[in-house]
Amino acid sequence: MRFDLTDEQRQLKEEIRSYLDEHITAELLEELIENPDGGPLWRQYIQNLGKDGWLGIGWPVEYGGQGKTPLEQYIFLEEIERTGVNIPFITLETVGPTLMKLGTEEQKNYFLPKILKGEVEIAIGYSEPQAGTDLAALETRAVREGDSYVINGQKVFTTNAHMADYIWLAARTDADAPKHKGISIFLVPTKTPGFSVTPMDLIGERSNVSYYEDVRIPLSALVGEENKGWQYITTQLSLERLMLSTYARMERMIEETIEWASENEVDGVRVLDQHWVRDSLAELTMEMEVLKLLNYRAAWAHNNEKTAPFRPSMNKVFAAELNQKVFDTCMQIMGMFGQVAAGSEWTIANGSAQTYAQKRLVHLFGGGANDIQRDLVARFGLGLPKS
Ligand SMILES: Cc1cc2nc3c(=O)[nH]c(=O)nc-3n(C[C@H](O)[C@H](O)[C@H](O)COP(=O)(O)OP(=O)(O)OC[C@H]3O[C@@H](n4cnc5c(N)ncnc54)[C@H](O)[C@@H]3O)c2cc1C
Repeated sequence: MRFDLTDEQRQLKEEIRSYLDEHITAELLEELIENPDGGPLWRQYIQNLGKDGWLGIGWPVEYGGQGKTPLEQYIFLEEIERTGVNIPFITLETVGPTLMKLGTEEQKNYFLPKILKGEVEIAIGYSEPQAGTDLAALETRAVREGDSYVINGQKVFTTNAHMADYIWLAARTDADAPKHKGISIFLVPTKTPGFSVTPMDLIGERSNVSYYEDVRIPLSALVGEENKGWQYITTQLSLERLMLSTYARMERMIEETIEWASENEVDGVRVLDQHWVRDSLAELTMEMEVLKLLNYRAAWAHNNEKTAPFRPSMNKVFAAELNQKVFDTCMQIMGMFGQVAAGSEWTIANGSAQTYAQKRLVHLFGGGANDIQRDLVARFGLGLPKS
């Protein structure tokens, strides 16, 4: 049993880190403060990542990837997370791999190379006002009419829909079937007449309500097979749960806090010499080690096709709660300075503590509420009866 990266993997990690150091410029960071959705420099950065072969490091060569394993793709994901500069994570890490497994040949050939070039962004359209945790209760309808499907309904929390090229949309195609068995997935171009969005302003970020009024799309927009959507949703969500479990941004926050605490004093005492600070940082560091092991195990298992279905839920619960703890604790250690946002002369670590403490609240719900994930671990991991 080996609990470490190989020499090649370490080297790869360093190579990715130095590439990112070079390409994430001060101008790009400034643009992201002005426009968190990303402007021209950000788009160029994503396309450069694609052109230089990084986006698909673990993807098959036939779709434009480097043909390495999911473990190398995971190393890339951690390094990107560490920078704090977003890429189209959902598209690259969840929709792409789901399409690779379950999409039609035409969809794979069209979407996968575009995803790897950073040319397409896809948002997730599952949740509805009456269908969040109970997602199978969704009411948006897709009705087949000749050579089209016509879609009507409304989704909430369609994050990034205002920037996306497509919605990965769950809609009911058989109203008479049991509720999990009448759902299909579609790739709906956001330029289609009848599609629109309005903003939902949440703590630390924007999401959207998305509307579908007689949205007419071709039959080829159906992903895989009709009424098999539940399988596609659970595949995509498992990948999303693993993607939400990364540790690198937390690790960087702990490093930045240690650096600040070793250089600053409060009431004449170096912050790092206060007992509660040392205890807190030690505890966070131990828990981070647990998360790292859980994640590397998941990436290895994915590589070996041994992912038990409860593992993504388990990792996501642990990561989402540790994430809150890391950013809250680091903000407490930094005192008032930790609450100052990026852009101010008084900010520490580019305002990371307060930004992430807010932004990452979503991890407690996104990809499925943690209460429900605990239930899945109990049932499928421990074999307990359904509650
Ligand atoms: C910032 C943000 C971004 C999001 N982005 C997207 C997106 O891009 N696309 C998308 O489709 N959705 C998105 N979502 C929606 C997200 O997936 C849902 O919020 C989540 O599934 C929970 O659904 P809900 O909000 O309707 O809460 P509810 O389902 O109403 O749950 C409320 C609470 O009740 C608990 N609960 C519900 N049912 C049970 C039960 N049977 N047993 C025990 N406890 C239960 C839940 O655990 C939770 O604590 C986003 C949400 C947020 C906050």
